Amino acid sequence: MTDDASSAVPPTPSAGLRPDTLAVRGGVHRTPFDEMSEPIFMTQGYVYPTAANAEAAFAGEIDRYQYSRYGNPTVTTFQERLALIEGADACFATSTGMAAVFVSLASILRQGSRLVAARALFGSSITVFNDYFTEWGIQVDYVDGHVNADWERALATPADAIYVESPTNPMQDVIDIPFVAALAKKAGALFVVDNVFATPIGQKPLELGADAVVYSATKHIDGQGRVLGGAVLGTDEYINGPVRTMVRTMGATMSPFTAWVLAKSLETLSIRVKAQAASAMDLAAWLDSHPKVATARYPLLPSHPQYERAASQMTLGGTLVTIDIALPDGVDPHGPEAKAAAFRFMDALQVIDISNNLGDAKSIATHPATTTHRKLGADGRAAVGMCDATVRLSIGLEDVEDLREDLERALAAV
Ligand SMILES: *Cc1c(COP(=O)(O)O)cnc(C)c1O
Repeated sequence: MTDDASSAVPPTPSAGLRPDTLAVRGGVHRTPFDEMSEPIFMTQGYVYPTAANAEAAFAGEIDRYQYSRYGNPTVTTFQERLALIEGADACFATSTGMAAVFVSLASILRQGSRLVAARALFGSSITVFNDYFTEWGIQVDYVDGHVNADWERALATPADAIYVESPTNPMQDVIDIPFVAALAKKAGALFVVDNVFATPIGQKPLELGADAVVYSATKHIDGQGRVLGGAVLGTDEYINGPVRTMVRTMGATMSPFTAWVLAKSLETLSIRVKAQAASAMDLAAWLDSHPKVATARYPLLPSHPQYERAASQMTLGGTLVTIDIALPDGVDPHGPEAKAAAFRFMDALQVIDISNNLGDAKSIATHPATTTHRKLGADGRAAVGMCDATVRLSIGLEDVEDLREDLERALAAV
């Protein structure tokens, strides 16, 4: 629905423009008032000039807004803008990131389908796969996502969908997206990438061969801790087919106010993420050689186990640094002393907040083992290389020297 005929000012053409321009100019549909900023259409629905017009809309004979669960002009602006930045044919917005994760798979999987997923996943995604999909008769098989031989074994038999996060949360394993994409084609599976850690600025999964991308827009896309949101991107056939039908019907629609906040946030996403990633890279290198830190994980640090792979598929290393606090010899990294060391560090931070969000302008420290990744259990955490001394740092927009001083002070308290 891109009817701009009523506005005197023509929309900016998108062809040939670069992502940073499209982030500001894309998806603009001015009303007859020719307003500068994008309008918010806070409306539940729409009125029809005649009863016959309503009938034609419901019969699918004309394409127009009918009801905001189905579509809303402000939500359209967000969807078009994100699709242009991502280089996707189409985008559908959802109420939260988890709605996007759920719909990206539930809209195409049926009883008897097979889903192959990388083991290292966001906690709620694991709950959806293990407690719902499995109960509904969907076979879910897990692999170690960063091990290519594991994918070859798992995808020697047909599958319907493949799901990964790359880099993974919080251990930052990097999955070989082009390699998995080639296997996905042969296996006949839809390959979905949760691109939250990398952001649309740092990695383009569709260019690397994936079929679909999901976002929690709650993270970097908002980046200022205000709203919850999500999005699924991919081909027109998939997004405007099963994805759209399921979101509209189950009701996990994005609100117009949220879409307005997020459309405006997309204008600054690139400069925010680039600045945050530069600070994260700087702090990661410093933390990796700090005596109180056992390891610092960051995809574009040469010490990262999949550094070459990360450098070939990511243009930015992201805004997160995952550290293991150094423990004295003989201390169990999965035991209470490790947890106490991590807590002492976090409680001594004065600038960086303790929270479970990420990608925000405000830097955040998270203890995954007791919060976001609690549901994995100790064995599940050990399987993805996480311990009780692991702390995830989301680097924000503060002066990097203030963050360094805060981290130095907190490490001294361990
Ligand atoms: C936060 C997050 C989600 C879920 O998003 P919500 O907006 O919280 O529903 C999914 N995947 C990853 C990697 C996340 O970090």
